[in-house]
Amino acid sequence: MIDAVLFDLGDTLIDFGVGRREAEILFRRGARLTYDHLHAQKVPVPSFELYFKHHYRRMQRAYVWSKICRRDFSYARILAAAAKALKLPLTDTDLHHLADLWYRPIGATSHTDPGVRNMLETLRRAGTRLGIVSNTLVPGHCLDQHLLEEGLLEYFPVRVYSSSVRYRKPHPRIFEIALAQIGAPASRTLFIGDLLHADIAGAKRAGMRTIWKPARNKPFATAPAQPHRLAPDAIIPKVTHLPEALREFGWRPTRAATHPAVA
Ligand SMILES: [Mg+2]
Repeated sequence: MIDAVLFDLGDTLIDFGVGRREAEILFRRGARLTYDHLHAQKVPVPSFELYFKHHYRRMQRAYVWSKICRRDFSYARILAAAAKALKLPLTDTDLHHLADLWYRPIGATSHTDPGVRNMLETLRRAGTRLGIVSNTLVPGHCLDQHLLEEGLLEYFPVRVYSSSVRYRKPHPRIFEIALAQIGAPASRTLFIGDLLHADIAGAKRAGMRTIWKPARNKPFATAPAQPHRLAPDAIIPKVTHLPEALREFGWRPTRAATHPAVA
């Protein structure tokens, strides 16, 4: 039986599908938005190139550090450190707004299947607890806002972002944090994600059942049967197929009747 479902966010619930090159273009676009905003607010900013370089270098260094230490960081910290180095007189509220602006171009290129909301409604109506576990450098408030705009936030009382907890999938700790918050044992929780190593192997090691939903730009990918740690329990081509797939795990679309009728 399945009481709870934990979702990966990027390329599982919301499709981003951006490669490294596109990510750099979007990062630069985000930088430009924040720079223009500061300029309009009459904040004494240096040239755009210098402003960009300060952020980009810090981002690269933090990225390398995160790979070595296997911990994530939030780009909110980069914004704060760059503002300090550039002597920009910014408050926490200003930095919060800058983070939202920086995320905007990434959010604008994303796509959410219009059937996702109905699918979540079906799960919620069945009493299934829902949560998100995401590897991300984006501050949580930016992702929460994106989920709100997509009409999805209300379905996820549990949202564990690696930019907040610092552990990233497949580290067991991030799954433990999510399970504790959702209040279901691992054996009755299913994880769905698009990455075999981070999502499937990580969730399996944490004791969960797993469904692999390959990213939209890799629809014909096949999961390996070996090694066993990477083999999901099931594969679906679209996240909206989840309720149907869950039936294989004993899940039913309505709550079990407390007092079943006696024939
Ligand atoms: Mg993903």
